[in-house]
Amino acid sequence: MTIHELDLFDNALDSLSEALSKFEEGDDGDHKAYKFAVLHMAHFIELIFKHHIASKHPLLIYKDPFSKKLDKNKTIGLWEAVNFINNEAPDTVSPEFRKDLEWIKRLRNEIEHHKFTMDVPQVRTTIGRLFRSVMEFLEEYTEIETEEHIPKRTKDTFKILSDEYEFSVRDAIRLAEEVEEENPIDYSDDPDAAPVRLECAECGHSTLVVNEDSGTGYRCTFCQNEESDELPANCDICGIPTTVGELVYWENEMGQMEGRCYYCSGRHHADKDD
Ligand SMILES: [Zn+2]
Ligand SMILES: [Zn+2]
Repeated sequence: MTIHELDLFDNALDSLSEALSKFEEGDDGDHKAYKFAVLHMAHFIELIFKHHIASKHPLLIYKDPFSKKLDKNKTIGLWEAVNFINNEAPDTVSPEFRKDLEWIKRLRNEIEHHKFTMDVPQVRTTIGRLFRSVMEFLEEYTEIETEEHIPKRTKDTFKILSDEYEFSVRDAIRLAEEVEEENPIDYSDDPDAAPVRLECAECGHSTLVVNEDSGTGYRCTFCQNEESDELPANCDICGIPTTVGELVYWENEMGQMEGRCYYCSGRHHADKDD
């Protein structure tokens, strides 16, 4: 490996670490940080692709390696690297992957020219997808190992970004937290106030939150489940506030379902008689 190759790789890893830290800061609520995550991620991708090309032959990162006098100031760009990779084996960089690359290049341009308007969910989703595509490419077509070079502090974010499932869980938790922030409860005002966020019994995440569009008043931001025994409910007979799981359901004479509490259902009586 030549010095130049090492430089490319080290710089690529630095950019990746920065991208991960900034992404983390963005997720922690500092939305401006996503902007820097985009810049660093774009830089990482460009450098790691170039590093891959340079590992084939160090001269290949120059624009014109066949010229009589090599101009070391002119190196290839991202698209030349992508073309080279696809010329080696068609569709290694798939059209979808390429579209995401175009997206991040455009975004980087907009940021650099201060024309950038942030669509946080789109930025997060696309960065995640792009990162997984790059990791997949490195794994399948190169010997390049990134994970073991990632500093400890960014390992968790690396794992979340690499794993589509973990990533969507993290997304759902963020959404649930937002709903929670938008709906503060003051228990000193109302001790019986209904909870805003519950654990979802379907998927096990703390992502079941109040939702106006849901028939039950709640919906999970991860699995869309709307049911839970823990949902607040009132006894249809005496009105006592309790939870769905504490009520027994009966069909009344009108053919409607009625939820009755421990006392109103007669269970209290039955237990006493035992
Ligand atoms: Zn769920
Ligand atoms: Zn009752």
